[in-house]
Amino acid sequence: MRPKVLVIDGNEHSLDIIASLLLKAKLTPVRATSLTAAQHLFSNSAPEDFLCAIVDYRLPDAPIGQAIDFALSSFLPTIATTEFLDAETRAGILNKNVIDYILKENEQVYEYLSVLLNRLQKNKSIGVLVVDNARISRNRSTSLLRRHNFITHQATTGQQGLEALTHFSHVKLVIIANELPDMSGIEMLSELRKRAKKDDIAVIGLSDHSDTGVSARFIKSGANDYLAQPYGQEEFLCRIMQNIELIENIELIRLAANSDFLTGLPNRRHFFERVAAADQLVPLHHSVALIDIDHFKLINDTYGHDCGDYTLREIAKLVAATFESHIPARFGGEEFCVSMPNVDLPAAAQILEDFRQDLANITFKFEGQTFHISVSIGVTAIKHGGVNGMLRKADEYLYQAKKNGRNRVEHDHIPVN
Ligand code: GH3
Ligand code: MG
Ligand code: MG
Repeated sequence: MRPKVLVIDGNEHSLDIIASLLLKAKLTPVRATSLTAAQHLFSNSAPEDFLCAIVDYRLPDAPIGQAIDFALSSFLPTIATTEFLDAETRAGILNKNVIDYILKENEQVYEYLSVLLNRLQKNKSIGVLVVDNARISRNRSTSLLRRHNFITHQATTGQQGLEALTHFSHVKLVIIANELPDMSGIEMLSELRKRAKKDDIAVIGLSDHSDTGVSARFIKSGANDYLAQPYGQEEFLCRIMQNIELIENIELIRLAANSDFLTGLPNRRHFFERVAAADQLVPLHHSVALIDIDHFKLINDTYGHDCGDYTLREIAKLVAATFESHIPARFGGEEFCVSMPNVDLPAAAQILEDFRQDLANITFKFEGQTFHISVSIGVTAIKHGGVNGMLRKADEYLYQAKKNGRNRVEHDHIPVN
C-alpha cells in the first residue's frame, strides 16, 4: 500500500499543488482544509499508514500552529508550511519539533518539499550512530534524527561505538563527540577509518564552540564534517542531509562504474574485483563458467539491433536471478561468465544445465515477433592459473560445446563412482 500523507491547508490552491506533488512521489494525499476536518479524518486511520503530515501554521480554526501540535501528538513526522515568516512565526514553528518548514512564497519551494519527501522515504533504511556520553546532547541528536525517519543507534563509549558498527551495516553516518569515557572521539575516528573509508561511512565530529582546534583535528583525522556545539537544529539537519547525500552519490557512481550499461549486470572489471575478494577467503572448491549465446548475430540480422538488445537484457535477468548467490557478469558482447566459489564441478554443471534448459524453454516476444534462444556453456573447476587460467579452460569447453552442436554444457571430466 502506498504511504499516506496528511495535508492540512486552508488554501485549496496550495492543497492542489501539494496533492499533485504527492501523487507524483507515489504517495497518497489525505486532504483537510481545517484542524477540525483533519481530526475527523484522522480518527478513522492508523498513524503507521502515514509517512508524515504537511501542515499550515495558520488555519482559520487553528491560528497559531495548533494543527501542527495535533499532527505531532498523533505521532506524525510533520513539515510545517506558512505564508509569512516573521521572526515570531519562525521561532513558533521551530519550537514545535517539526521536520522542517516551507515558506509558501513561490512555486519553487514545492520542489524543496518534494526533495524532503523523497528523503523521508529513503531515510527509513539509513542508520545513523550517535556516539556521545553526554545524555542530553545524545538524546537531542537522536530525537532530531528520528524525526527525519533515520534508524538511530546510540553508544556512550568509543568501544561501544566501534562494536555497533560491526553489527549494523546500514549505518552510513556516525556522529562522534570528542569527550568519551574510554578514548577521545578523534581516537575512535582513527580506529573507525581503518575499517571504513570516508566515502563508505560519513563521520561528523562534535566540537565545542570555544575549542576551534578540535574541529580541524577531526577533519585531519578523517571526519567528513564537524558541528560546533551548541548547534541550531536547522544547521544540524542540513549537515546530516549533505553528508548522507554525499555517501549516496558516491554509491551511485560506484554502482554505475561497476555495472554494465545495457544489462545492469556487474561488468568485467567488477567481476575480477569480486573474484579476487572471494579468493582471499580461499574457497575449497571453485567453479568458473562461460556462457555464450548461440547464433546471436542472426537475432540482430533477422529482427534488428533493438531486438538484440532486448534479448540480451532478458537473458541478463535470468543470469542475475539464477546466479544471485554466485558472482555473475556480462563478460563481453553476448557472453556472460559466472564464478562460483565453494561450488564443486558436479553441482556447478547441474546448475548450468538447469539454466540452459530454462532459457531454451523461454519464448521471447518482441514487437509481435516470437523466437527462441539457446546458449552454449563451458565449465571448469580445475584451479589452474588463477581465475584467468580457469576462464581460458572454460573457453575451451565452450568452443567444444559450439562444435558439438550448440545448446549444451561441456565441462571437465566428472569421475563416476
Ligand atoms: P555463435 O553461436 O558461434 O556464438 O554465433 P554468434 O552469432 O552468437 O557469434 P558471433 O561472435 O558471430 O556474433 C556475436 C554477435 O553479437 C555480433 C554482435 O553484433 C552481437 N552483439 C554483441 N554485443 C551486442 C549488443 O550489445 N547488442 C546487440 N544487439 N548485439 C550485440
Ligand atoms: Mg561470442
Ligand atoms: Mg555467440
